[in-house]
Amino acid sequence: MRIGRREFLKVGVAATGAALLPVSTFAQGAAPRVVVVGGGFAGATCARALRHANPRTAVTLVEPAATFTACPFSNEVIAGTRELGAQQFTYDRVIADGIALARTTATGVDGTARTVTLADGVRLPYDRLVLAPGIDFRWGALPGYDEVAAAQLPHAWKAGEQTLLLRRQLEAMPDGGLVVISAPANPYRCPPGPYERASLIANYLKTKKPRSKLIVLDAKDAFSKQKLFQQAWAELYPGLLEWVSLSKGGNVTSVDAATRTFVTDFGKHQAAVGNVVPPQKAGRIAEVAGVADKSGWCPIDPVTFESKLVPGIHVIGDAAIAGAMPKSAFAANSQAKVCAAAVAQLLAGSAPPSPKLINTCYSLVAPGYGISVAGVYAPLNGQLADVPGAGGLSAADAPRSVRAAEAAFGEAWFRTITGEVFG
Ligand SMILES: Cc1cc2nc3c(=O)[nH]c(=O)nc-3n(C[C@H](O)[C@H](O)[C@H](O)COP(=O)(O)OP(=O)(O)OC[C@H]3O[C@@H](n4cnc5c(N)ncnc54)[C@H](O)[C@@H]3O)c2cc1C
Repeated sequence: MRIGRREFLKVGVAATGAALLPVSTFAQGAAPRVVVVGGGFAGATCARALRHANPRTAVTLVEPAATFTACPFSNEVIAGTRELGAQQFTYDRVIADGIALARTTATGVDGTARTVTLADGVRLPYDRLVLAPGIDFRWGALPGYDEVAAAQLPHAWKAGEQTLLLRRQLEAMPDGGLVVISAPANPYRCPPGPYERASLIANYLKTKKPRSKLIVLDAKDAFSKQKLFQQAWAELYPGLLEWVSLSKGGNVTSVDAATRTFVTDFGKHQAAVGNVVPPQKAGRIAEVAGVADKSGWCPIDPVTFESKLVPGIHVIGDAAIAGAMPKSAFAANSQAKVCAAAVAQLLAGSAPPSPKLINTCYSLVAPGYGISVAGVYAPLNGQLADVPGAGGLSAADAPRSVRAAEAAFGEAWFRTITGEVFG
């Protein structure tokens, strides 16, 4: 549903109409205005944290979807052990916090006039802007893979219809079919995601279609939690799941969606079901706003998350270049809170302190079999760097009871974070 000018003014705090105010005016009583673009893990967290930091701040959240569909645990939906409804959340509690929800797309940003333009032409003035648009795909960067091809070879890297399409294709595949997953080069959303997906699809095949096979064609020679994944694959899916690294010919150079063919430098693989995790970049509005660099991602100050390219605009979540921090929902949530505190302090005329951020990524290798990697990050030389010795991986030779406990920790993390962001 899109929101027009009149409806927008009805939904809550009116963020339009006033002229841009200098910081000193806030001390005299004028409410600061912050616009947040993108109501995902980063944007929705940030909008709420901004209101909690200073309830006088007029916060507008711009998000076109009425319901947010979360990616974490969507690999379970593909493998048939979870329903998509368990991934979906409304913005009711966000609105209840006094945040104005503009249910539309941001199409333009004027960093000099400090305004955001919405799809219906409404212009929102801001004192500070937070961009949290997640990712977009580099359609065509992998020859043969565009929006049309995604209807045959789903990416399922933005949860929703694509997730269900991949699930339906697996369900329709006869026993004995070949499933091919193409994993991209770094950086991309959720570094362990393709390997969790491969694991859970392998588990589905093992139980439902045991004569089938799965190949992961990879544009890399190394990946997140690799030893743990490979150890589990050898134990759970021998002969079923094969990982082909870059140097062994895994790099996919083109696809043919009509025949579900994956072409590499070393040969061709014809899939019964094919999944392409495409090359990615920051959500399009970042480029429009001028905060994305040549890499397609957004360089930021690691203390405030303010863009290094356009002052007054902060970028958080997957769209940001966050140094050693991976592109995860956990990281997006951590960054959003730090950014909200920094924005509140900047608006009050004070200097934000240097932050510490954390991330933990849980992955399921099978139902009830979890592994994880954790890290702590702090600003160093203009980037977010690992705090040495503060993170690490699950133990390599842990008993099944430990793996079961980690699977439960992952579930609890998902309940906690979605409860905090949307509940
Ligand atoms: C298969 C899979 C599994 C994953 N598993 C995990 C996991 O176990 N743990 C974990 O921590 N992370 C996981 N992730 C990663 C996680 O989903 C992302 O890192 C996280 O969603 C990033 O949050 P974000 O707010 O930056 O982007 P998103 O959550 O994608 O939110 C971006 C929002 O911005 C909106 N938007 C975009 N452009 C505009 C615009 N112009 N105007 C208005 N709104 C706009 C979009 O509609 C969207 O709602 C997984 C990802 C995948 C694909």
